[in-house]
Amino acid sequence: GRRLPRPEATRVLTVANQKGGVGKTTTAVNIAAALAAAGLEVLVVDMDPQGNASTALGIDHRADVESVYEVLIDDVPLADVVAPSPDLNHLYCAPATIHLAGADLELVSLVAREQRLRKAIDAYTEYRADSGLPRLDYVFIDCPPSLGLLTVNAFCAASEVLIPIQCEYYALEGLSQLLNNVAMIQKHLNSELVVSTILLTMYDGRTNLAAQVAADVREHFPELVLKAVIPRSVRISEAPSFQQTVMTYDPSSTGALGYLEAAAELAERATRSS
Ligand code: ADP
Ligand code: MG
Repeated sequence: GRRLPRPEATRVLTVANQKGGVGKTTTAVNIAAALAAAGLEVLVVDMDPQGNASTALGIDHRADVESVYEVLIDDVPLADVVAPSPDLNHLYCAPATIHLAGADLELVSLVAREQRLRKAIDAYTEYRADSGLPRLDYVFIDCPPSLGLLTVNAFCAASEVLIPIQCEYYALEGLSQLLNNVAMIQKHLNSELVVSTILLTMYDGRTNLAAQVAADVREHFPELVLKAVIPRSVRISEAPSFQQTVMTYDPSSTGALGYLEAAAELAERATRSS
């Protein structure tokens, strides 16, 4: 595969959009896979009780598996729950289980409730260094479609927000709310957080609407939108049912090439690292 630059320090990106079905999980796992395919060390943290990222990466996330839930609520080290993805070398996942559905409420009464994921990732980074494991290059946090404490934890653990936007009529709706939330987090909880990247997904080149939406988003956020666009592709949506990313399921498909381009751009952009 193509060689990509290693970041100066671990880049932690939260993939967020409070709308469901816009391609958050698909983007998190496939950009992660594209970077891992280039030899970078990549961890995906699944913060969605649905566990779709865990499924796509072939990681067991049945209810009895220790998961991000125990990390957040019971102080279990992240190192105990991280598993290598059978899909690709250099690719790891901290799985979600259905127990996470209760975590938003359970977190409320815990000490430093907003910072629990950040602390877990920091401790894991130290653990890897102490154990002689290679430094992580990227961490992608896959968020649920809500703005509860799970998402707040993801924002507090990250230095960058990656927003996937579906090229449809209501694309920009809700975006200002998301940006306001990021601004609140910046002000009160994590001053280094920036929205660094917007990725246009599920692009249907046959419709004028998709082109119009893409042009609108680029006009609003000229610096943030990646040049690469992810096409609507059946191969992308099929891959998770084989517990694969599109990178291995069909590496020459338009979807895989789209995510490879997006990953390369992300890696090559001037980065704010940690
Ligand atoms: P979210 O995590 O934001 O809820 P998902 O990544 O789960 O969104 O995507 C929603 C659905 O759309 C899934 O069934 C997924 O397989 C499908 N999907 C995502 N991206 C594409 C694409 N580029 N082409 C076709 N289907 C896609
Ligand atoms: Mg999802």
